[in-house]
Amino acid sequence: MALQANPELAAKVAKANRILYKLGILDGFGHISARMDNSPDHFLLSCNRAPALVAPEDVLIYDMQGELAMETDKRSYLERYIHSEIYRQRPDVMSVVHSHSANIIPFGVTDVELKPIYHMSGFLGGGVARFEIRDTTGEDNDLLIRDRNLGEALATSLGRKNFVLMRGHGATIAAPSVEVAVFRAYYAESNAKLQLTSMSFNSPITYLNEKEAHNAMNTNEGQIKRAWDLWCQQEEGLI
Ligand SMILES: [Zn+2]
Repeated sequence: MALQANPELAAKVAKANRILYKLGILDGFGHISARMDNSPDHFLLSCNRAPALVAPEDVLIYDMQGELAMETDKRSYLERYIHSEIYRQRPDVMSVVHSHSANIIPFGVTDVELKPIYHMSGFLGGGVARFEIRDTTGEDNDLLIRDRNLGEALATSLGRKNFVLMRGHGATIAAPSVEVAVFRAYYAESNAKLQLTSMSFNSPITYLNEKEAHNAMNTNEGQIKRAWDLWCQQEEGLI
C-alpha cells in the first residue's frame, strides 16, 4: 500500500507555513517540514508554493534523498535537500524551518556572533553554526541548496546544533516538533533584531550565560502550547 501521511500532521505542516508567514518569518519563500510520525525515513514538505497559500493537500511526502515518495504532478521546492539531509544526519530532529528572515542576515555575513539576548531565545545558547556555500561550490553559485551534495554540506555544518546561519542567504533551524520549530524561527528573528538594537548603544552587552540559556529554553519550550494556540487562532482570523 502506498505510504500515507497522517492527515493531522499534514494539516499541522500547512498551518505552520501560514503561521510563519503571519509572523513575518517567511514571505513568498522559505518552508517548514516535519518528519513523518508513521515512517521516520520520510518527511512532509509543501509543494512549490508560497507559505501563506499552503493547504494540507499541498503537503507532499519525500524520502531521505530529498526525492518524492508519492505520485503527484505538483512541483517540488528546489531547496528540499536542506530538509532531507538534516533528517538523514539527525534522527533526533522532527521539524526543520528554512527562512530568509531579514534581521538574521547581518550575522551571517559578519563575524558577529548571534547570541541569546533574552530568555525567549535560550535555545541559541547551544551555539550557532555557520555555513559557507563557497566551501562546497567555489565562487560560482547562486547561494541555494539545490542538490544533495549541498544539503549534506549544510547538515554537516549544523552538526549537533539547532541553528545554522547561511552566509548571504538566511538560516535553517532544527527542532523536536513543528511547534518548537515555529517558536525558534520566530524568536531567533526577534533575538537578532534586539541584538542589533543593543549593539547600536555602544555599550557592553550582557547575554544570557550558558545555564540561563539552557534553563530558559526548557521552561519556555515546556509551555509551547500557549504560544501555538495563540498563533493558530491568529492564523484562523479568530482574534
Ligand atoms: Zn533559501
